Amino acid sequence: MLPFKLVYDPRYDLNLGAHVFPSQKYRLVHDKLIADGIAEPGDFVAPAPASDADVLRVHSQDYVYKLKNGSLTPAEILRMEVPYSKELVNACWLAAGGSILAAQQALADGWSANIGGGFHHAYADHGEGFCVIHDVGVAIRRLQFDRAMQTVMVVDTDVHQGNGTASIFGGAGDVFTLSIHQEHNYPYPKPPSTVDVDLPDGIGDEDYLIILERNLREAFRHFTPQMLFYIAGADPYREDQLGGLALSIEGLARRDALVFDYARRNKVPVAITLAGGYARRVEDTVQIHVNTILAAGEAAKQGVKRAIKGA
Ligand SMILES: [Zn+2]
Repeated sequence: MLPFKLVYDPRYDLNLGAHVFPSQKYRLVHDKLIADGIAEPGDFVAPAPASDADVLRVHSQDYVYKLKNGSLTPAEILRMEVPYSKELVNACWLAAGGSILAAQQALADGWSANIGGGFHHAYADHGEGFCVIHDVGVAIRRLQFDRAMQTVMVVDTDVHQGNGTASIFGGAGDVFTLSIHQEHNYPYPKPPSTVDVDLPDGIGDEDYLIILERNLREAFRHFTPQMLFYIAGADPYREDQLGGLALSIEGLARRDALVFDYARRNKVPVAITLAGGYARRVEDTVQIHVNTILAAGEAAKQGVKRAIKGA
C-alpha cells in the first residue's frame, strides 16, 4: 500500500487507436502499478470533472464555449493534434478535476499523483500538441482560489518546453515555472518560463542530471513554494519518437528521485502528473511512468522514517 493517493479514472483513455499519443497508457500504468504490487486498488481515488468555473479561471470564455459546443474551427482542431469529440472534452475536464484532486491530496498527505494530466501545451485561448485544457493551471488556480495555498513551483521535465504553462503563468510572482527540455524541438516559439533550461540534442543521463540538479538548487534558493507540481514527461527517453534526448529508463528514474529529494528536503508537498511519452514500445513509456510513482513512494517513506527518527 502506498502512503498517498493516486488519482485515476478509466475514462482518461481517449481510445485514439493508432494515434502517436498512446492514451491507453493511463490504463496500462494503473494496471501495472497493481500487477507489480506497487499499489493496491484502495490506493486509487476517482476524480470528479473540473467545474466550468474551475476551467474558466485559466481558459478564455470563447475557447471554453467552442469546446463545449463543438464549434472549434478546423484549424483549431488541427492545432490540437487530437480528434475533437464530446468524449475528448469530457476526458479533459476529468483530467483537470484529477489534477485538482491530486493537488488537494498532496496538501493532505505530502504526496499524490494524477495518473493522467500534464497537458502543458494548452494555452488560455487554444489547445495544441495533444493538450486541450491545462489541468495543472486549473488545479493551481483552484487551490489558490480556495486559499489552500498560494505559491507553487512547477517543475516540468517533459522533453518539450511547457509553453502553455509559461504563457498562462508568465510574470505571475506566485507561480515559479522551471522547464528543462530539448531546445531544438516543438514548441516554437517558446514563451519564457521563470527558468528555461534549453538542452542540446542527444544529452544523456549524467549530463542531464548534473544540469537538473544545478537548476533545482538555484530554484529553491530563490523561491520557497507551498507546493511542487511535477510534470513528469516520459519523453526525454532515448527511444522516444518525438524526443531527441538520450536518457535511459534508469536515468529517468534518477531524475524523478532527484526532484523528489529536493521537495522532501524543503518540506514541500508534491503533486505529480504524467505528461508526454511516445516510446517505440508503449511498455517502456508505461515503465517510466510506473517508476515515477515508485520513486515518489520511496521518497514518501524516507520522509516518514526521518520524521520518526527526529521524534
Ligand atoms: Zn512532451
